Amino acid sequence: MYLVLESLFKKGYHMKIAFYTTKPYDRIWFEPMAKQYKMELLFLEAPCRPNTLDLAAGCDAICIFINDQITAEMIERLTKMHVKAILLRSAGFNHVDIEAARGKIHVLRVPSYSPEAVAEYATAMLLTVNRFTHRAYTRTRDFNMSINGLMGTDLHQKTAGIIGTGKIGQSMIRILKGFDMKVYAYDLYPNKELDVEYVELPELFAKSHVISLHCPLTKETYHIIDKSAIDQMQQGVYLINTSRGALIDTNALIDGLLDRKIAGVGLDVYEEESGVFYEDLSDEIIQDNTLARLMTFPNVLVTSHMGFFTTEAMQAIAVETMENAHALEHGLPLVNEV
Ligand code: NAD
Repeated sequence: MYLVLESLFKKGYHMKIAFYTTKPYDRIWFEPMAKQYKMELLFLEAPCRPNTLDLAAGCDAICIFINDQITAEMIERLTKMHVKAILLRSAGFNHVDIEAARGKIHVLRVPSYSPEAVAEYATAMLLTVNRFTHRAYTRTRDFNMSINGLMGTDLHQKTAGIIGTGKIGQSMIRILKGFDMKVYAYDLYPNKELDVEYVELPELFAKSHVISLHCPLTKETYHIIDKSAIDQMQQGVYLINTSRGALIDTNALIDGLLDRKIAGVGLDVYEEESGVFYEDLSDEIIQDNTLARLMTFPNVLVTSHMGFFTTEAMQAIAVETMENAHALEHGLPLVNEV
C-alpha cells in the first residue's frame, strides 16, 4: 500500500489536486506553490493506476507524470468522482487516452519547459557513447588507465539526421551544427523557417552517421525505428532516443547491435520503462530480459528518462502546471489544453 504523504493547507483554500508519482525533487518545487496559488496539494508516492485512483477522492484534479497510464475506464471513474482535470507534468500526452477524455475531463499539459535541457542531454548521450566516457570513468576509478577499446570518431563534418523538428529537435540542430555537422531532418510538418534540409526517412537513414529522435509517440511513429529502418542505416550509425521508448523496436535494435551495424546507442527512454524507471530496483531480480540484455552492451547507455531534469526545467514545469490549475479554477482560457 502506498502512503498518502501529506495533505497541505487543509482549510480555507480552493482547488484540491492529487499529485501522483511524486518524488522529493517534485515537492521542492510544488510545495511553496500551494501557498502562493492557495490550493491544496496532496502528494502521493503512488503511480496513477486503477487501484490507486480512489486516493484522489474529493480532489478537483489529478496531476500525473509520464509513466502514469490513464485509460478510458479510468477516465470514466474520474468523471464519476467529479475530478475535472488531468494536469500533466509533461509535454508528451501519449500516456492518456485523449479520445476518451474529450468532452469529459480537461487534459492540460506543459507544452514547453526547457527544450534545451533535453537537447543538451541528447548531446551528452551522443558524446558518451561515441567517446566511451562512461567506460573511461569506471576504468580510471579503478586505476585501469588502459584506453584499449575506447576509440571514438570525430563528429566534425559528419552527418546527423533529426527526426522531429519541434522545439527540442530545433535545439538539437543548433547544437550539432556547432560541431560543424551536416544536418538533415524529417518531420511530418516541415518547418520552412528552419535552416535545415528536409529529406524523406529513407534518405535520412542512408546518409546519417548519427540519428536522434525528437518526434512524439503516435500511431504513426510507433516503432519508426524497426528492422527495416535499421537495414537502411549506415554501418556504424549512432542512435539517440530521448523522446519515447516505443519509437524504437527494442528487439530490432538489439539485433542491430549484435550485427555491429549500430556503433552506439543512447536511450533515455525505453518501451517498457513504466514501473522500472525512477525506481531503485538495485535489490531486485530484473524480470525484463530485453532491458537486461541491453545493459550488457558496452556501447549502450541507458538512463532513466531524465533528459528534462534541470533546475530550469523543473521550475518551469511547476509554474506552468500551477498556471494550468489556476486557469481552470478561475475560468480563464485553457491555453494548454490537449
Ligand atoms: P514538439 O511538439 O515541439 O515537436 C515535435 C515535432 O515532431 C513536431 O515538429 C511535429 O511536427 C513532429 N512530428 C509529429 N509527428 C511526426 C511524425 N509522424 N514523424 C515525424 N515528425 C513528427 O515537441 P518537443 O517539445 O520538441 O518534444 C519532442 C518529444 O520529446 C516529446 O514528444 C516527448 O516525447 C519528448 N520529451 C522527452 C523528454 C525527456 O526527459 N527525455 C522531455 C520532454 C520531451
